Amino acid sequence: MNIVHICSEVTPIAKVGGLADFVQGLSASLSDQENQLSVVLPFYASIDRSHLRDVKVALRDFSVTENLASYSNTVWSAQLENFQVFLLKPNHPKRYFDRKAIYGEKDDIERFGYFSHAALEYLLQADIHPDILHLHDWITGGCAPLYYEMYRALGLRVGAVITTLHNLCYQGVCRPEQLSQMGLKNPDHLLTVDKLQDPSKPSKGNLLKGAIVYSDQLTTVSPSYCQEIKTKKGFGLEPLLTRYNNKLTGILNGIDADYWNPSTDPHLAATYPATPHNIEAIVAAKKKNRLALAKKVGLKPNHGPLVASITRLVTQKGPDLIRAALEETLSLGGQSVLLGSAIEDKFYASFCALQDRYQKDGHSFFFFDFDEPLAHLTFAAADILLVPSLFEPCGLTQMIALRYGTIPIVHHVGGLKDTIIDADHHASSRTKPNGYTFSSFSVDHLIDALHRACTTFHKTREKWHQLMINGMSQDWSWKRSAFDYLKLYHFATTHRQQP
Ligand code: ADP
Repeated sequence: MNIVHICSEVTPIAKVGGLADFVQGLSASLSDQENQLSVVLPFYASIDRSHLRDVKVALRDFSVTENLASYSNTVWSAQLENFQVFLLKPNHPKRYFDRKAIYGEKDDIERFGYFSHAALEYLLQADIHPDILHLHDWITGGCAPLYYEMYRALGLRVGAVITTLHNLCYQGVCRPEQLSQMGLKNPDHLLTVDKLQDPSKPSKGNLLKGAIVYSDQLTTVSPSYCQEIKTKKGFGLEPLLTRYNNKLTGILNGIDADYWNPSTDPHLAATYPATPHNIEAIVAAKKKNRLALAKKVGLKPNHGPLVASITRLVTQKGPDLIRAALEETLSLGGQSVLLGSAIEDKFYASFCALQDRYQKDGHSFFFFDFDEPLAHLTFAAADILLVPSLFEPCGLTQMIALRYGTIPIVHHVGGLKDTIIDADHHASSRTKPNGYTFSSFSVDHLIDALHRACTTFHKTREKWHQLMINGMSQDWSWKRSAFDYLKLYHFATTHRQQP
Protein backbone atom coordinates (compact mmCIF):
# COMPACT_ATOMS: atom_id res chain seq x y z
CA MET A 1 0.00 0.00 0.00
CA ASN A 2 1.08 3.56 -0.62
CA ILE A 3 0.22 5.56 2.53
CA VAL A 4 0.75 9.32 2.68
CA HIS A 5 0.39 11.30 5.91
CA ILE A 6 -0.16 15.03 5.59
CA CYS A 7 0.62 16.51 8.97
CA SER A 8 2.28 19.24 11.01
CA GLU A 9 4.56 17.23 13.32
CA VAL A 10 6.84 14.22 13.24
CA THR A 11 9.34 13.06 15.86
CA PRO A 12 12.18 14.00 16.15
CA ILE A 13 12.36 16.80 13.58
CA ALA A 14 9.20 18.74 14.48
CA LYS A 15 7.56 17.89 17.79
CA VAL A 16 5.10 19.68 20.02
CA GLY A 17 3.37 16.68 21.55
CA GLY A 18 1.91 13.22 20.99
CA LEU A 19 0.92 13.84 17.34
CA ALA A 20 4.62 13.85 16.41
CA ASP A 21 5.19 10.54 18.19
CA PHE A 22 2.07 9.09 16.55
CA VAL A 23 3.14 9.87 12.99
CA GLN A 24 6.71 8.66 13.51
CA GLY A 25 5.70 5.53 15.46
CA LEU A 26 2.97 4.42 13.08
CA SER A 27 5.04 5.17 9.97
CA ALA A 28 8.13 3.39 11.26
CA SER A 29 6.06 0.32 12.26
CA LEU A 30 4.17 0.02 9.00
CA SER A 31 6.94 0.77 6.56
CA ASP A 32 8.12 -2.47 4.94
CA GLN A 33 8.32 -4.03 1.53
CA GLU A 34 4.55 -4.10 1.15
CA ASN A 35 3.79 -0.67 2.57
CA GLN A 36 5.39 2.52 1.39
CA LEU A 37 5.07 5.30 3.95
CA SER A 38 5.56 9.01 3.28
CA VAL A 39 4.98 12.04 5.47
CA VAL A 40 4.34 15.47 3.95
CA LEU A 41 5.35 18.20 6.39
CA PRO A 42 6.08 21.95 6.25
CA PHE A 43 9.80 22.63 5.95
CA TYR A 44 9.97 24.56 9.24
CA ALA A 45 13.09 26.69 9.61
CA SER A 46 13.58 25.00 12.99
CA ILE A 47 14.00 21.49 11.54
CA ASP A 48 17.24 19.85 12.61
CA ARG A 49 18.51 18.39 9.34
CA SER A 50 21.05 16.13 11.01
CA HIS A 51 18.27 13.54 11.46
CA LEU A 52 17.61 13.42 7.71
CA ARG A 53 19.40 11.38 5.04
CA ASP A 54 19.46 11.76 1.25
CA VAL A 55 17.97 15.25 1.24
CA LYS A 56 17.25 16.29 -2.34
CA VAL A 57 14.82 18.40 -4.29
CA ALA A 58 11.75 16.37 -5.24
CA LEU A 59 9.84 19.09 -7.10
CA ARG A 60 10.92 22.65 -7.68
CA ASP A 61 8.84 25.75 -8.30
CA PHE A 62 5.26 24.54 -8.52
CA SER A 63 2.69 27.20 -7.88
CA VAL A 64 -0.20 27.46 -5.45
CA THR A 65 -2.80 30.19 -5.64
CA GLU A 66 -3.90 32.10 -2.57
CA ASN A 67 -6.27 35.08 -2.83
CA LEU A 68 -5.69 35.31 -6.60
CA ALA A 69 -1.90 35.56 -6.15
CA SER A 70 0.37 32.68 -7.12
CA TYR A 71 3.29 31.56 -4.98
CA SER A 72 6.04 29.19 -5.89
CA ASN A 73 6.88 26.16 -3.71
CA THR A 74 9.64 23.60 -3.55
CA VAL A 75 9.47 20.15 -2.00
CA TRP A 76 12.51 18.30 -0.71
CA SER A 77 12.47 14.58 -0.14
CA ALA A 78 14.51 12.92 2.59
CA GLN A 79 14.75 9.67 4.46
CA LEU A 80 13.82 9.66 8.15
CA GLU A 81 14.42 6.30 9.80
CA ASN A 82 12.80 3.79 7.42
CA PHE A 83 10.25 6.13 5.83
CA GLN A 84 10.25 9.07 3.48
CA VAL A 85 9.46 12.67 4.32
CA PHE A 86 8.51 15.40 1.87
CA LEU A 87 9.30 18.85 3.21
CA LEU A 88 7.32 21.65 1.63
CA LYS A 89 8.73 25.16 1.50
CA PRO A 90 6.60 27.96 0.12
CA ASN A 91 8.25 31.04 -1.26
CA HIS A 92 5.61 33.20 0.40
CA PRO A 93 6.04 36.78 1.68
CA LYS A 94 4.49 35.84 5.04
CA ARG A 95 7.19 33.21 5.65
CA TYR A 96 4.56 30.86 7.05
CA PHE A 97 6.96 28.27 8.45
CA ASP A 98 9.90 30.42 9.51
CA ARG A 99 8.28 31.28 12.84
CA LYS A 100 9.41 30.71 16.43
CA ALA A 101 6.91 27.95 17.18
CA ILE A 102 4.95 25.39 15.19
CA TYR A 103 1.57 26.60 16.48
CA GLY A 104 0.17 29.59 18.30
CA GLU A 105 0.60 32.21 15.57
CA LYS A 106 -2.31 34.55 14.79
CA ASP A 107 -2.45 33.27 11.22
CA ASP A 108 -2.41 29.51 11.98
CA ILE A 109 -5.56 29.01 9.88
CA GLU A 110 -3.91 30.64 6.85
CA ARG A 111 -0.57 28.90 7.44
CA PHE A 112 -1.95 25.39 7.65
CA GLY A 113 -4.70 26.09 5.11
CA TYR A 114 -1.98 27.04 2.65
CA PHE A 115 0.05 23.98 3.59
CA SER A 116 -2.95 21.63 3.12
CA HIS A 117 -3.62 23.11 -0.29
CA ALA A 118 0.04 23.00 -1.35
CA ALA A 119 0.47 19.42 -0.10
CA LEU A 120 -2.37 18.17 -2.35
CA GLU A 121 -1.06 20.24 -5.25
CA TYR A 122 2.34 18.60 -4.73
CA LEU A 123 0.85 15.08 -4.83
CA LEU A 124 -0.97 15.96 -8.04
CA GLN A 125 2.05 17.56 -9.72
CA ALA A 126 4.39 14.79 -8.61
CA ASP A 127 1.97 12.14 -9.86
CA ILE A 128 1.70 10.52 -6.43
CA HIS A 129 -1.67 8.79 -6.09
CA PRO A 130 -1.81 7.17 -2.63
CA ASP A 131 -4.03 4.31 -1.55
CA ILE A 132 -4.45 6.09 1.78
CA LEU A 133 -4.32 9.79 2.50
CA HIS A 134 -3.99 10.03 6.29
CA LEU A 135 -4.82 13.43 7.84
CA HIS A 136 -4.49 14.73 11.39
CA ASP A 137 -6.81 17.05 13.34
CA TRP A 138 -8.12 20.32 11.88
CA ILE A 139 -4.58 21.29 10.97
CA THR A 140 -4.58 19.11 7.86
CA GLY A 141 -8.17 17.77 8.07
CA GLY A 142 -9.11 20.50 5.56
CA CYS A 143 -7.47 18.28 2.93
CA ALA A 144 -10.55 16.00 3.12
CA PRO A 145 -13.01 18.56 1.69
CA LEU A 146 -10.26 19.94 -0.56
CA TYR A 147 -9.76 16.50 -2.05
CA TYR A 148 -13.41 15.59 -2.56
CA GLU A 149 -14.50 19.09 -3.65
CA MET A 150 -11.56 19.88 -5.91
CA TYR A 151 -8.51 17.65 -6.25
CA ARG A 152 -10.35 14.49 -7.20
CA ALA A 153 -11.80 16.32 -10.19
CA LEU A 154 -8.33 17.63 -11.04
CA GLY A 155 -7.09 14.05 -11.37
CA LEU A 156 -5.59 13.18 -7.99
CA ARG A 157 -6.50 9.56 -7.25
CA VAL A 158 -6.73 8.53 -3.59
CA GLY A 159 -7.98 5.14 -2.39
CA ALA A 160 -9.48 6.51 0.83
CA VAL A 161 -9.12 9.52 3.12
CA ILE A 162 -8.67 8.86 6.82
CA THR A 163 -8.52 11.50 9.52
CA THR A 164 -7.25 10.80 13.01
CA LEU A 165 -8.92 12.93 15.67
CA HIS A 166 -6.15 13.54 18.19
CA ASN A 167 -7.98 16.23 20.12
CA LEU A 168 -11.50 17.61 19.59
CA CYS A 169 -10.62 20.70 21.60
CA TYR A 170 -8.98 22.36 18.59
CA GLN A 171 -11.27 22.64 15.56
CA GLY A 172 -9.96 25.29 13.16
CA VAL A 173 -13.01 27.58 13.31
CA CYS A 174 -12.55 30.13 10.53
CA ARG A 175 -14.11 32.85 8.43
CA PRO A 176 -15.62 31.92 5.04
CA GLU A 177 -12.95 33.90 3.21
CA GLN A 178 -10.28 31.78 4.90
CA LEU A 179 -11.90 28.72 3.30
CA SER A 180 -11.61 30.25 -0.14
CA GLN A 181 -8.09 31.42 0.65
CA MET A 182 -7.06 27.78 1.17
CA GLY A 183 -8.53 26.84 -2.18
CA LEU A 184 -12.05 25.77 -1.16
CA LYS A 185 -14.06 27.50 -3.85
CA ASN A 186 -17.60 28.67 -3.25
CA PRO A 187 -17.60 28.80 0.59
CA ASP A 188 -21.34 29.63 0.61
CA HIS A 189 -22.05 26.21 -0.80
CA LEU A 190 -19.85 24.67 1.94
CA LEU A 191 -21.25 26.66 4.86
CA THR A 192 -24.23 24.41 5.39
CA VAL A 193 -25.28 22.25 8.33
CA ASP A 194 -24.29 19.04 6.56
CA LYS A 195 -20.89 20.38 5.44
CA LEU A 196 -18.44 22.81 7.06
CA GLN A 197 -20.71 25.18 9.00
CA ASP A 198 -19.61 25.54 12.62
CA PRO A 199 -22.36 24.22 14.94
CA SER A 200 -22.20 27.12 17.39
CA LYS A 201 -21.18 30.01 15.10
CA PRO A 202 -23.22 29.54 11.92
CA SER A 203 -21.42 32.32 10.02
CA LYS A 204 -18.12 30.47 10.45
CA GLY A 205 -16.52 27.40 8.92
CA ASN A 206 -15.08 24.53 10.95
CA LEU A 207 -12.20 22.59 9.39
CA LEU A 208 -12.40 19.67 11.80
CA LYS A 209 -16.08 19.30 10.98
CA GLY A 210 -15.08 19.28 7.31
CA ALA A 211 -12.66 16.42 8.02
CA ILE A 212 -15.37 14.46 9.86
CA VAL A 213 -17.96 14.91 7.12
CA TYR A 214 -15.68 14.26 4.14
CA SER A 215 -13.28 11.53 5.36
CA ASP A 216 -14.00 7.92 4.44
CA GLN A 217 -12.93 6.75 7.90
CA LEU A 218 -12.15 8.45 11.19
CA THR A 219 -10.07 7.22 14.08
CA THR A 220 -9.56 8.42 17.61
CA VAL A 221 -6.43 7.65 19.56
CA SER A 222 -8.07 5.44 22.19
CA PRO A 223 -11.28 3.39 22.44
CA SER A 224 -12.60 5.26 25.51
CA TYR A 225 -12.11 8.67 23.87
CA CYS A 226 -14.03 7.34 20.89
CA GLN A 227 -17.05 6.81 23.16
CA GLU A 228 -16.61 10.02 25.18
CA ILE A 229 -16.59 12.37 22.17
CA LYS A 230 -20.06 11.20 21.16
CA THR A 231 -21.58 12.08 24.52
CA LYS A 232 -19.72 14.78 26.42
CA LYS A 233 -16.15 15.48 25.32
CA GLY A 234 -16.78 16.40 21.69
CA PHE A 235 -16.67 20.21 22.17
CA GLY A 236 -19.97 20.72 20.36
CA LEU A 237 -19.42 18.06 17.69
CA GLU A 238 -21.13 15.24 19.67
CA PRO A 239 -24.25 15.03 17.43
CA LEU A 240 -22.12 15.00 14.28
CA LEU A 241 -19.86 12.26 15.65
CA THR A 242 -22.90 10.23 16.68
CA ARG A 243 -24.25 10.62 13.15
CA TYR A 244 -20.97 9.39 11.64
CA ASN A 245 -20.47 6.64 14.21
CA ASN A 246 -20.31 4.08 11.39
CA LYS A 247 -16.98 5.44 10.20
CA LEU A 248 -15.47 6.03 13.64
CA THR A 249 -12.96 3.62 15.26
CA GLY A 250 -10.94 3.99 18.46
CA ILE A 251 -7.42 2.58 18.20
CA LEU A 252 -5.08 2.98 21.15
CA ASN A 253 -1.81 4.70 20.26
CA GLY A 254 1.41 2.83 20.73
CA ILE A 255 4.80 4.16 21.72
CA ASP A 256 8.00 3.57 19.79
CA ALA A 257 9.53 0.77 21.83
CA ASP A 258 13.02 1.37 20.41
CA TYR A 259 13.01 5.09 21.02
CA TRP A 260 11.55 4.74 24.53
CA ASN A 261 13.71 1.84 25.61
CA PRO A 262 15.33 2.10 29.05
CA SER A 263 17.76 -0.70 28.13
CA THR A 264 19.34 1.34 25.33
CA ASP A 265 18.25 4.97 25.91
CA PRO A 266 21.32 7.17 25.30
CA HIS A 267 19.92 9.94 27.51
CA LEU A 268 20.07 7.83 30.69
CA ALA A 269 22.96 7.81 33.14
CA ALA A 270 22.34 4.08 33.70
CA THR A 271 20.36 1.80 31.41
CA TYR A 272 18.08 -0.95 32.73
CA PRO A 273 18.54 -4.69 32.33
CA ALA A 274 16.48 -6.08 29.46
CA THR A 275 14.14 -8.15 31.63
CA PRO A 276 11.67 -6.34 33.89
CA HIS A 277 11.86 -9.10 36.48
CA ASN A 278 15.39 -8.15 37.52
CA ILE A 279 13.88 -5.57 39.84
CA GLU A 280 16.90 -5.06 42.10
CA ALA A 281 19.05 -4.05 39.11
CA ILE A 282 16.26 -1.80 37.81
CA VAL A 283 15.93 -0.07 41.16
CA ALA A 284 19.71 0.41 41.23
CA ALA A 285 19.67 1.92 37.72
CA LYS A 286 16.78 4.19 38.70
CA LYS A 287 18.79 5.42 41.67
CA LYS A 288 21.75 6.29 39.40
CA ASN A 289 19.46 8.17 37.05
CA ARG A 290 18.00 10.06 39.97
CA LEU A 291 21.49 11.07 41.11
CA ALA A 292 22.34 12.21 37.58
CA LEU A 293 19.11 14.22 37.34
CA ALA A 294 19.69 15.68 40.81
CA LYS A 295 23.16 16.82 39.77
CA LYS A 296 21.83 18.30 36.54
CA VAL A 297 18.96 20.28 38.05
CA GLY A 298 20.27 20.96 41.56
CA LEU A 299 18.33 18.61 43.84
CA LYS A 300 19.66 17.61 47.29
CA PRO A 301 19.85 13.98 48.48
CA ASN A 302 16.39 12.72 49.50
CA HIS A 303 14.90 9.27 50.09
CA GLY A 304 11.28 10.23 49.48
CA PRO A 305 9.55 9.60 46.15
CA LEU A 306 10.48 11.73 43.16
CA VAL A 307 7.20 12.90 41.58
CA ALA A 308 7.36 14.22 38.01
CA SER A 309 5.08 15.94 35.56
CA ILE A 310 6.14 16.10 31.89
CA THR A 311 3.47 17.92 29.96
CA ARG A 312 2.18 20.87 28.04
CA LEU A 313 0.84 23.24 30.72
CA VAL A 314 -2.58 23.87 29.22
CA THR A 315 -6.09 23.61 30.71
CA GLN A 316 -6.55 20.07 29.34
CA LYS A 317 -3.63 18.74 31.39
CA GLY A 318 -5.04 19.89 34.78
CA PRO A 319 -2.44 22.54 35.77
CA ASP A 320 -4.25 23.36 39.04
CA LEU A 321 -4.15 19.71 40.04
CA ILE A 322 -0.50 19.40 39.02
CA ARG A 323 0.40 22.44 41.13
CA ALA A 324 -1.41 21.07 44.18
CA ALA A 325 0.16 17.61 43.84
CA LEU A 326 3.70 18.99 43.45
CA GLU A 327 3.23 21.08 46.59
CA GLU A 328 1.76 18.14 48.51
CA THR A 329 4.72 15.96 47.45
CA LEU A 330 7.10 18.45 49.06
CA SER A 331 5.08 18.61 52.26
CA LEU A 332 5.24 14.80 52.40
CA GLY A 333 9.05 14.94 52.22
CA GLY A 334 9.40 13.92 48.57
CA GLN A 335 10.87 15.77 45.61
CA SER A 336 9.22 17.11 42.47
CA VAL A 337 10.26 17.87 38.91
CA LEU A 338 8.08 19.72 36.44
CA LEU A 339 8.89 19.90 32.72
CA GLY A 340 6.05 22.10 31.51
CA SER A 341 6.05 23.35 27.94
CA ALA A 342 3.65 25.56 25.96
CA ILE A 343 2.42 27.14 29.20
CA GLU A 344 -0.81 29.14 28.85
CA ASP A 345 -0.42 32.75 30.04
CA LYS A 346 -3.08 32.36 32.71
CA PHE A 347 -1.03 29.70 34.55
CA TYR A 348 2.39 31.28 34.23
CA ALA A 349 2.31 33.51 37.34
CA SER A 350 1.13 30.77 39.71
CA PHE A 351 3.76 28.28 38.54
CA CYS A 352 6.49 30.93 38.79
CA ALA A 353 5.31 31.69 42.34
CA LEU A 354 5.64 28.00 43.19
CA GLN A 355 9.12 27.94 41.70
CA ASP A 356 10.15 31.07 43.66
CA ARG A 357 8.81 29.62 46.86
CA TYR A 358 10.26 26.10 46.69
CA GLN A 359 13.09 25.63 44.19
CA LYS A 360 15.71 27.26 46.42
CA ASP A 361 15.21 24.50 49.06
CA GLY A 362 16.74 21.98 46.65
CA HIS A 363 13.86 19.50 46.56
CA SER A 364 12.04 20.71 43.46
CA PHE A 365 12.83 21.80 39.94
CA PHE A 366 10.57 23.76 37.62
CA PHE A 367 11.33 24.10 33.92
CA PHE A 368 8.99 25.87 31.50
CA ASP A 369 10.17 24.64 28.16
CA PHE A 370 10.49 21.52 26.02
CA ASP A 371 13.58 19.38 26.53
CA GLU A 372 13.60 15.90 25.02
CA PRO A 373 16.82 14.53 26.62
CA LEU A 374 15.80 15.88 30.03
CA ALA A 375 12.38 14.24 29.62
CA HIS A 376 14.03 10.84 29.00
CA LEU A 377 16.21 11.17 32.09
CA THR A 378 13.25 12.32 34.19
CA PHE A 379 11.07 9.37 33.09
CA ALA A 380 13.87 7.07 34.29
CA ALA A 381 14.70 8.96 37.50
CA ALA A 382 11.17 9.50 38.79
CA ASP A 383 9.14 7.15 40.97
CA ILE A 384 5.74 8.65 40.15
CA LEU A 385 4.38 10.49 37.10
CA LEU A 386 1.33 12.74 37.41
CA VAL A 387 -1.19 12.76 34.55
CA PRO A 388 -4.29 14.45 36.00
CA SER A 389 -5.80 15.51 32.65
CA LEU A 390 -9.32 16.90 32.52
CA PHE A 391 -9.75 14.87 29.34
CA GLU A 392 -7.13 12.80 27.53
CA PRO A 393 -7.59 11.49 23.97
CA CYS A 394 -4.83 8.92 24.57
CA GLY A 395 -1.84 10.24 26.47
CA LEU A 396 1.61 8.86 25.84
CA THR A 397 3.45 9.88 28.97
CA GLN A 398 1.71 7.29 31.17
CA MET A 399 2.79 4.53 28.74
CA ILE A 400 6.36 5.85 28.57
CA ALA A 401 6.43 6.03 32.38
CA LEU A 402 5.30 2.38 32.67
CA ARG A 403 8.13 1.31 30.44
CA TYR A 404 10.64 3.13 32.66
CA GLY A 405 9.29 1.59 35.88
CA THR A 406 7.65 4.85 36.94
CA ILE A 407 4.18 4.59 38.46
CA PRO A 408 1.52 6.83 36.87
CA ILE A 409 -1.22 8.58 38.84
CA VAL A 410 -3.96 9.43 36.35
CA HIS A 411 -7.48 10.80 36.05
CA HIS A 412 -9.69 7.88 35.01
CA VAL A 413 -10.63 9.23 31.60
CA GLY A 414 -10.01 8.64 27.85
CA GLY A 415 -6.81 6.79 27.01
CA LEU A 416 -5.69 6.96 30.65
CA LYS A 417 -8.67 4.77 31.50
CA ASP A 418 -7.63 2.31 28.76
CA THR A 419 -4.06 1.93 30.03
CA ILE A 420 -3.87 2.35 33.83
CA ILE A 421 -5.34 -0.05 36.37
CA ASP A 422 -5.50 1.07 39.98
CA ALA A 423 -3.33 -0.73 42.53
CA ASP A 424 -6.05 -0.77 45.16
CA HIS A 425 -9.29 -0.91 43.17
CA HIS A 426 -8.95 -3.43 40.39
CA ALA A 427 -11.88 -5.71 39.96
CA SER A 428 -10.57 -8.68 38.02
CA SER A 429 -7.66 -10.94 38.86
CA ARG A 430 -6.92 -11.19 35.11
CA THR A 431 -5.87 -7.56 34.85
CA LYS A 432 -2.69 -6.57 36.61
CA PRO A 433 -2.57 -3.19 38.38
CA ASN A 434 0.09 -0.76 37.18
CA GLY A 435 -0.69 2.62 38.75
CA TYR A 436 -3.16 4.80 40.65
CA THR A 437 -6.33 6.37 39.30
CA PHE A 438 -8.88 8.87 40.57
CA SER A 439 -12.32 9.18 39.07
CA SER A 440 -13.45 12.68 39.98
CA PHE A 441 -11.47 15.60 38.55
CA SER A 442 -10.60 17.44 41.76
CA VAL A 443 -7.55 18.33 43.82
CA ASP A 444 -8.85 16.24 46.75
CA HIS A 445 -9.21 13.10 44.68
CA LEU A 446 -5.75 13.49 43.14
CA ILE A 447 -4.20 14.10 46.57
CA ASP A 448 -5.93 11.00 47.88
CA ALA A 449 -4.37 8.93 45.06
CA LEU A 450 -0.99 10.55 45.73
CA HIS A 451 -1.22 9.62 49.42
CA ARG A 452 -2.08 6.02 48.54
CA ALA A 453 0.91 5.88 46.18
CA CYS A 454 3.34 7.44 48.68
CA THR A 455 2.19 5.12 51.44
CA THR A 456 2.87 2.09 49.24
CA PHE A 457 6.22 3.55 48.16
CA HIS A 458 7.35 3.93 51.77
CA LYS A 459 5.67 1.02 53.51
CA THR A 460 5.03 -1.82 51.06
CA ARG A 461 8.10 -2.02 48.88
CA GLU A 462 7.16 -5.42 47.52
CA LYS A 463 3.83 -4.16 46.23
CA TRP A 464 5.55 -1.11 44.71
CA HIS A 465 8.08 -3.30 42.92
CA GLN A 466 5.28 -5.55 41.66
CA LEU A 467 3.52 -2.50 40.19
CA MET A 468 6.77 -1.57 38.44
CA ILE A 469 7.19 -5.10 37.08
CA ASN A 470 3.56 -5.22 35.91
CA GLY A 471 3.94 -1.97 33.97
CA MET A 472 7.31 -2.86 32.49
CA SER A 473 6.06 -6.28 31.35
CA GLN A 474 3.22 -4.80 29.27
CA ASP A 475 3.58 -4.28 25.54
CA TRP A 476 2.70 -0.69 24.60
CA SER A 477 4.56 -0.82 21.28
CA TRP A 478 3.02 0.12 17.95
CA LYS A 479 2.91 -3.55 16.87
CA ARG A 480 -0.71 -4.11 17.91
CA SER A 481 -2.04 -0.68 16.93
CA ALA A 482 -0.19 -0.63 13.59
CA PHE A 483 -1.86 -3.91 12.70
CA ASP A 484 -5.27 -2.38 13.53
CA TYR A 485 -4.48 0.61 11.30
CA LEU A 486 -3.45 -1.64 8.45
CA LYS A 487 -6.73 -3.55 8.74
CA LEU A 488 -8.62 -0.27 8.72
CA TYR A 489 -6.69 0.98 5.68
CA HIS A 490 -7.66 -2.13 3.74
CA PHE A 491 -11.28 -1.84 4.87
CA ALA A 492 -11.38 1.87 3.95
CA THR A 493 -10.19 1.33 0.40
CA THR A 494 -12.86 -1.30 -0.20
CA HIS A 495 -15.73 0.44 1.64
CA ARG A 496 -15.57 4.05 0.58
CA GLN A 497 -18.05 6.34 2.31
CA GLN A 498 -17.76 9.20 -0.15
CA PRO A 499 -19.53 8.90 -3.50
P1 ADP B 1 -0.10 15.82 24.11
O1 ADP B 1 0.10 15.29 22.73
O2 ADP B 1 -1.52 16.16 24.43
O3 ADP B 1 0.82 16.95 24.44
P2 ADP B 1 0.85 13.19 24.99
O4 ADP B 1 0.95 12.58 26.35
O5 ADP B 1 0.06 12.44 23.98
O6 ADP B 1 0.29 14.67 25.18
O7 ADP B 1 2.32 13.39 24.39
C1 ADP B 1 3.23 14.26 24.96
C2 ADP B 1 4.62 14.00 24.38
O8 ADP B 1 5.39 15.19 24.52
C3 ADP B 1 5.38 12.91 25.13
O9 ADP B 1 6.32 12.30 24.28
C4 ADP B 1 6.12 13.73 26.22
O10 ADP B 1 7.28 13.08 26.67
C5 ADP B 1 6.45 14.98 25.46
N1 ADP B 1 6.54 16.19 26.31
C6 ADP B 1 5.54 16.91 26.84
N2 ADP B 1 6.02 17.97 27.51
C7 ADP B 1 7.37 17.92 27.40
C8 ADP B 1 8.44 18.76 27.87
N3 ADP B 1 8.21 19.84 28.58
N4 ADP B 1 9.70 18.41 27.54
C9 ADP B 1 9.93 17.28 26.80
N5 ADP B 1 8.98 16.46 26.34
C10 ADP B 1 7.71 16.79 26.63
